[in-house]
Amino acid sequence: MIVLVINAGSSSVKFTCFEMISDPKVLANGLIERIGLDGTLMKYSNHKGDEAKREVTVKNAEEGVKIIAQKLVDSKIGVLKSLTEVKAIGHRVVSGGEYFSDPVVVDARVKEFIDKCSVYAPLHNPHHLLGINACEATFPGVTNVAVFDTAFHIAGIQPHAYLYAIPYELYTEQKIRRYGAHGTSHDYVSRKAAELLGKPRQNVRAIVCHLGNGASISAVAGGKCQDTSMGLTPLEGVIMGTRSGDIDPAIVWTVMKLKNLSPVEADNFFNKKSGMLALAGIGSSDLRDIEAEHKKGNKQCTQALETYAYRIKKYIGSYLAALGGADIVAFTAGIGENSATMRALILKGLDDLGIKLDAAKNSERSGEARFISTNNSPIKIAVIPTDEEQEIAKQTLALAIVK
Ligand code: ADP
Repeated sequence: MIVLVINAGSSSVKFTCFEMISDPKVLANGLIERIGLDGTLMKYSNHKGDEAKREVTVKNAEEGVKIIAQKLVDSKIGVLKSLTEVKAIGHRVVSGGEYFSDPVVVDARVKEFIDKCSVYAPLHNPHHLLGINACEATFPGVTNVAVFDTAFHIAGIQPHAYLYAIPYELYTEQKIRRYGAHGTSHDYVSRKAAELLGKPRQNVRAIVCHLGNGASISAVAGGKCQDTSMGLTPLEGVIMGTRSGDIDPAIVWTVMKLKNLSPVEADNFFNKKSGMLALAGIGSSDLRDIEAEHKKGNKQCTQALETYAYRIKKYIGSYLAALGGADIVAFTAGIGENSATMRALILKGLDDLGIKLDAAKNSERSGEARFISTNNSPIKIAVIPTDEEQEIAKQTLALAIVK
């Protein structure tokens, strides 16, 4: 049984082709990047170790999906005999608004709702729709499933955690509220955290720190999300690679006035030119570069790392209060899985709250889910590699089978 996972963005289409055995196996993955620009690049690799990387001419997502399909059945590096082997296609969709608290089989009505939700994710949802349309054209008759980044949060978070203190009709009429993002990852990692603890998910309170270029923290109890740091859009919350995270909203109009920015330019400023890129001041938002500069003695980078860690520490503290305690703090995504330095900085000084890091375990390198807390730590700490693609594939297959 083959399931394809597609993540269609503004200038790229990423894909993973899974064989859905009990532990889904990646047969091939890759992406087409810089779509519609000069130097459009296709990168493809398969489970046998074959790789292909070449410039292609791709004007839009539909052409991108066609090229991916050709590669999958390519006589040399393909992994399928025929495209009819594809049972279903799962699409990552950033926003499902309040409409979707679960994945859903795509039909014309679902597409209308995804389109409506473009107001919350203008940089993403329109491109997801192009990806879905492209797959419908390239894989006729195959079930397409939309898996929403917001669904896990929508299903769990209650009004006291999702309402903003602005006129209520902005919620009732315009649905301005907190939606969160990275839901598939928070769902997956909190489930794995319960497995690691050897407890039923129902009895577990977890604080999940998804720290990648985009970053969000969630408080999960009984398998339901209780709160999450991202808001109406992914701009709210902790400091990210290029996003400011939480700031006084007055900064927005102050900067707009000072720099003479339009709303679109301001959106770009706080989403693309802020965060660690701005704080560290070395022209890179990549934590590896900032850590390297810090080690060389760059004080601004040291300060950026400390500021980043401090904000996350405050979220952990507030979610401990929101959950009335926790069983586990889990780290995931690029930074959460790989930066022992950052994990240590975030958790420094939390011993008295019952969160005790084991320095040696924290420094061990492993791609496996594992504890990094001391044996006597009342609240366990874990590193749990996320796998959003695999989770989307599983949820997609579950729906395609019952369809
Ligand atoms: P996204 O999926 O949001 O684009 P990722 O989850 O891939 O992001 O995370 C990217 C981030 O992870 C980058 O900031 C990168 O610097 C960081 N990262 C990856 N490996 C390491 C590492 N070994 N040490 C520190 N940071 C790392």
